[in-house]
Amino acid sequence: MGTEVDKQVVEAPAKLYRVGPVVLLGAPGAGKGTQAKRIVEVHWVPQISTGDLLRDNVGRGTELGRQAKAIMEGGGLVSDELVCGMVAQRVLTEDCHRGFILDGFPRTVAQAEWLDGFLTGAEFAAHPCTSLPPVVIEIAVSYNHLFQRLTGRRSCPTCQRIYNIHFQPPREFGRCDHDGAELVTRKDDTEDVIAQRLKAYERQTLPLVEYYKRQGRLRSVDGEKSLEQVTEETLKAIGHGHSL
Ligand code: AMP
Repeated sequence: MGTEVDKQVVEAPAKLYRVGPVVLLGAPGAGKGTQAKRIVEVHWVPQISTGDLLRDNVGRGTELGRQAKAIMEGGGLVSDELVCGMVAQRVLTEDCHRGFILDGFPRTVAQAEWLDGFLTGAEFAAHPCTSLPPVVIEIAVSYNHLFQRLTGRRSCPTCQRIYNIHFQPPREFGRCDHDGAELVTRKDDTEDVIAQRLKAYERQTLPLVEYYKRQGRLRSVDGEKSLEQVTEETLKAIGHGHSL
């Protein structure tokens, strides 16, 4: 009853402030996607997952998807040029005007340097978040814990909710709590590919932690704490936003 009115009440305050760019750093399986969805629920800014955007392109058989497919299936990183172009296009769309959450991007120092240049450059100058420096949050989780998380990960193909058969199982085995769809394992969540993805992370993404630390921007959250605690610390790092 009265859900439309309730919804307006919930949505109204969100329109009064800007969140700016939020960068979620962390290894595959650290919980970036889960935390991004929680930030969306609180702040109403879109989650931009480069992994999801790439999978969408692969699924639709676009030229970009065709170029990315084999690399993704082998657990490697898609070229900086392709990924940066895709991100630029996405953050300039209107739903990103109050801010956006980058999930899985940047993943190399070259991408981080590109992002710094982009956020302070001409293309982004007319964006309402142009003056806001990104809030960079690292979700830190140890290698063994990550491996277990990734091998147990299942997702809902309908609503994209994520479960874990070890840590966060659905109520009914193999089915989404929300819509009952049959849960699926991602193609790159097999043990061999997981090992490759974690290696790619250590080699190419871990240096980003140092990059942002040197800039004095890095907030680190212990990703092995409970989901609620991680969310609380993540939201604290973002703060209350900036006036419009
Ligand atoms: P994810 O869903 O974030 O784990 O990403 C899945 C795969 O997409 C990765 O293993 C990479 O092959 C590719 N990918 C996602 N984001 C990036 C990025 N920022 N740079 C390069 N490759 C990416």
